[in-house]
Amino acid sequence: MPVTEKDENPRIPYQLPFPKDAQAEIVVPSAIPEDERVWVPQADNVWFRPLCLNRSQGYWVNLLRVRKAGVLSRHRHPNPVHGFVLKGRWHYLEHDWVAEAGGYVYEPPGETHTLVVPDDVEEMITLFQVNGIMYYVDPYGKPLGYEDVFTKIDMCREHYEKVGLGEDYVDQFLR
Ligand code: FE
Repeated sequence: MPVTEKDENPRIPYQLPFPKDAQAEIVVPSAIPEDERVWVPQADNVWFRPLCLNRSQGYWVNLLRVRKAGVLSRHRHPNPVHGFVLKGRWHYLEHDWVAEAGGYVYEPPGETHTLVVPDDVEEMITLFQVNGIMYYVDPYGKPLGYEDVFTKIDMCREHYEKVGLGEDYVDQFLR
């Protein structure tokens, strides 16, 4: 239904309490972090930085950083993915379009792709919301492994413990 009533007090904040079972918001002041330790290594020249690791709905929002020669291995998505490119440029071996800084990408369920960065790009950073799993496969679809929000959380814990931030550094991103 469209809004038909005029708001007589547009600058007065909402006066009622939020639902008592609602979760806390996440506010990350420096989403592209100053502290290099916040980047979790994923593969050679590939890192991710968690922003929201949503255990209750099975998705995660992260920044992906790929530097020269880095490849995000071939994987299938059974669920949709949303991406917003913050820096650099990349493409999938399976598509002829190029994602560039400022661009948005929707990846429909059923996509299988391999992310690469062109030789003339030093670094790309993209925000991805990934739902469900990433299902890693060989060129003919043979399964090689998977990632889900829980494997991402485990990777964060292990890395943050190792670099001295402590494994519970990841807790601020969990919902
Ligand atoms: Fe993907």
